[in-house]
Amino acid sequence: MKQVFLLKAAALLHEPVDKPWVETGVLSAPLSPQGIKPHEEEALRVAGEILKDTVLAEAAGMLTDPRIRKARLLSLSAERLLAELAGGAPAKSLKLKNLFNPAFEVKVEASPDSVSRVTSELAASLNELLRKASSERDAYHLLYAFYEALWVGLGGPSNPVDLRAPTATVFDEVYATASTLNWLLHGEEPSGLLLMIDIPSIQVFISRSRKLRDLWVSSYLVSALAWRTAWTFIEKLGPDVLVMPTCRYNPFYYHSLLSSIGSRQLAESVEDVIEKVSGYNPERDTYPLYAVVPGTLLLVLPDYEVLQQYVDSTIKDRESLEKYAVERYREAWSSIWSSILGLKGRGGDAMGKLLGKLAEQLEGVEKVGFDRVPPLPIRVITVEVSEILEELGPQHLQKLYHCLFAKLQYKLGREKLFRVSYASELDLTSWTSGDVGWPKEFRSGRGFDYCTSCGELPAVLIVPREQGREEFLRVLERELGVTRDEARSLALSLEPYFSGGEKLCPYCLAKRIMALEPEIMLKSLLGAPAQPRRFEVSFPSTSDVASVEFRQALLEKALESGEAREKVMKTLMDSLFQLGRPTAPQGTAFWRKQQVLLGRLRERAGKGKELEQSLALLELLVTMCAELLWFSEENRKKWLSLARDLRLGGTTVYYALVRADCDNVGKLISGKLEEALGVKLEEHILSALEGEARSKVESALCGEEPRLGASAEIKELVDEMKREGGLLVSPLYHASLSGALMRTAVRDIEIVEELDGFAVYSGGDDLLALAPVSRALAIASETRLSFGVGSKSKGTKHSGFEKLGSYHVPSLIPAGRSYAVYEAHYRYPMSAVLRRSHEVLEQQAKEAKWSTPKGTIEKDTLVAVYAPGGGERTACVLLRESKSISKAGDVCGALELAESVLKALDSGVFSESLVYDALDPASAALLERLLGYQQLLAPYFRTLLRRNLKAARKAGEDLADRLAASLASYNAFLLEAGEGAGRARPLVLEIIKLVRLARSGVRGFV
Ligand SMILES: [Zn+2]
Repeated sequence: MKQVFLLKAAALLHEPVDKPWVETGVLSAPLSPQGIKPHEEEALRVAGEILKDTVLAEAAGMLTDPRIRKARLLSLSAERLLAELAGGAPAKSLKLKNLFNPAFEVKVEASPDSVSRVTSELAASLNELLRKASSERDAYHLLYAFYEALWVGLGGPSNPVDLRAPTATVFDEVYATASTLNWLLHGEEPSGLLLMIDIPSIQVFISRSRKLRDLWVSSYLVSALAWRTAWTFIEKLGPDVLVMPTCRYNPFYYHSLLSSIGSRQLAESVEDVIEKVSGYNPERDTYPLYAVVPGTLLLVLPDYEVLQQYVDSTIKDRESLEKYAVERYREAWSSIWSSILGLKGRGGDAMGKLLGKLAEQLEGVEKVGFDRVPPLPIRVITVEVSEILEELGPQHLQKLYHCLFAKLQYKLGREKLFRVSYASELDLTSWTSGDVGWPKEFRSGRGFDYCTSCGELPAVLIVPREQGREEFLRVLERELGVTRDEARSLALSLEPYFSGGEKLCPYCLAKRIMALEPEIMLKSLLGAPAQPRRFEVSFPSTSDVASVEFRQALLEKALESGEAREKVMKTLMDSLFQLGRPTAPQGTAFWRKQQVLLGRLRERAGKGKELEQSLALLELLVTMCAELLWFSEENRKKWLSLARDLRLGGTTVYYALVRADCDNVGKLISGKLEEALGVKLEEHILSALEGEARSKVESALCGEEPRLGASAEIKELVDEMKREGGLLVSPLYHASLSGALMRTAVRDIEIVEELDGFAVYSGGDDLLALAPVSRALAIASETRLSFGVGSKSKGTKHSGFEKLGSYHVPSLIPAGRSYAVYEAHYRYPMSAVLRRSHEVLEQQAKEAKWSTPKGTIEKDTLVAVYAPGGGERTACVLLRESKSISKAGDVCGALELAESVLKALDSGVFSESLVYDALDPASAALLERLLGYQQLLAPYFRTLLRRNLKAARKAGEDLADRLAASLASYNAFLLEAGEGAGRARPLVLEIIKLVRLARSGVRGFV
């Protein structure tokens, strides 16, 4: 049993973390016997220290196992393979290159002393951790989870594993080797398979959301179901089996690991490190708060014999394996279902009784199959190593993974032609001929009613329309056995969760119950948290997001002593009195922004007696739902007049939904660099190489015929990649890519939170977030910049890498990323906003084609939409200046220009009239004519901007001139609006439209 984990542990340690330092002789290794290289001896030394007196101790003697060497070779990426073929001495300088665009590099800046200190500290800390594990499997999980994480936490630099082609760190390589080792567990002849789990139709599923909490639950559910299915394999075989997404930096992995090992002490000792690499703090968050696992997962699995022994005895062949995976998925759903049924017969307050009653309704439909058939279908696809091995022949073994992956994608493409549906598995006919829909009196009279959320299935729950209130109270009294008063207060507290006239099918009802009690889903899918604590959180509403700046301004006024505070308190009291139900939301605020405001209030209250007394009331000012507090019919006038009185400027009723995803991500995953990124293959390879290896490859590529030996092999490999139009896809390439994507997801969440937004989903290459309108463009530009150049803040110089302490993680620098920023009224149906924003992203941003001075650029476009009263106004902005990005300044220039104008409007440099002046019919007509005369444009904008300056000051005039010059420089960028669709749209006009659009969204008064 233990052999597999010993071997995998040896794979993780077969290269020493300080390899390049020893290789270059900067650090000396222990004296080595003849025939053993210094870094190999160092690997033995470090492994010995890490594993000493642990259950994995034997692994230290297995570092040179031939299977590990072979696994390493099979996992190499193209440039590394070429370096191996070319040979040559390692380069002397320590640097790391960005795998996706090797023109970007960072010097490894560390002192030899610090490297050797961090190495020893790492060994000691890991050893301490591993000693706590009682099984080889637990110990291996801990080693994998904390090997790189502790190194990062201790301040270790990113050491390149191969100085001839420094595109991967030691960690990238050993993690990829451990993955590939799954195919070599039985010897040097590879066997095993690639398995893909794919959950289709996610967008449709999550768009059926009425409230922010529904949306959060829907996307989390998909993520957690996918994770739970993969976790079966991860838990039993080790985290290395999951290639995409990765377990590195993955909050779900850290959570599941702590939950499964279940040591509270352990959790406390490593929580800082976990937070640093994954953004998840087990102590603070209880569960990972954000869904980061995408609906498509790729696993490298060992052969059936190992699967049978380690995973499940029923696995014998492809069929039984695929069945096993599907069953785990269904089982995950069933476990949620039974937790919901567990609410049945729940006593307590009226809400508890209602949940019990709803659970009863779901129990009644089990015979139809809702308990067994998940609301989303799943595809499980496999390709066996043996399918490829024969065609490939032994001399092309390094292409094994590449060919398997290509075949897998082909199979997936074929599967996608067929729509998977669960409906056929549900016994709907016999159900709908019976008695469907509770309570009876609200049915429309026909046989059954359709679900108003998905429109696909019959409804089990029917919520009465507003008019039926009296009747509704009677029903509640009768069905729940509660008093009239209890029924009345229950009816009121249900408002945020169910709307009048809503009808829900079993799936949509189950989802709604999970939104009421997210812990049901979390516990069933992710296990108990390391800290035994209830997960009780309050979600903001779209109205809260829209008006958070108003709330903040009011809070500041309330914190001032004297008249201002009196006024705020009075309006607050009046409003609460008017509402007659000042119930505070239960649980801690989920939204970071709300936590920050509460923190500020409590801190100030702690300092002075008088605030302390009104703390409870002021907390309602921060937490109470904006829709009731100031947007309600009864109260809006009060707050509006208070805002005027305190000169606060009111609040907007619009929030922004921000969506983003990577352009051409499928091609990027398949290594098709030229199509995905516009990078020439040969150029890419050569710039990835260093020193002698580079010159050897260069001469092999340009040299005259005939070629012999290594030179011929190099040429053949490169020619073949050229024919296929891309890099060789390998475990190492995928390890680097999924590592970069996971860190992008974690950074995106941080950026969204810092900019007062609410991240709903951030995983794979996608982002879905809500934000105050005034912050949405900043969220777009910061996340776009972070996606490309790595650093979160614009000032940092390390473009192409994220700096995590002293450790560098590559960003996807050459790839594009498109955005939809949709500004919607908080009362506009959320499902429509979700659907529409998705369409805008796919049909407008992704279809955008710009002609620029440096050629055509496709995609990489932000489309902003302002949707007042059903209509839509849009602006499109290009997010890169040139096809290939060579510096941070090549990204987001146009967007940042719009932001600068907005900032100058905010700070009062320009008057609001600018927005109208720029686009009034006369100005627009003049500008239209001037677009053909580049030299006249800057003067035109200068005049326009200067005449809207609030005060004629030198600084303002200088700013106006700078902005005018920048605006004019975008005249040469044209959005080709598609064939026959009329004239091209100049980017400069789109920037101005974007400014007006963003301005409209923040102004809509209460
Ligand atoms: Zn439904």
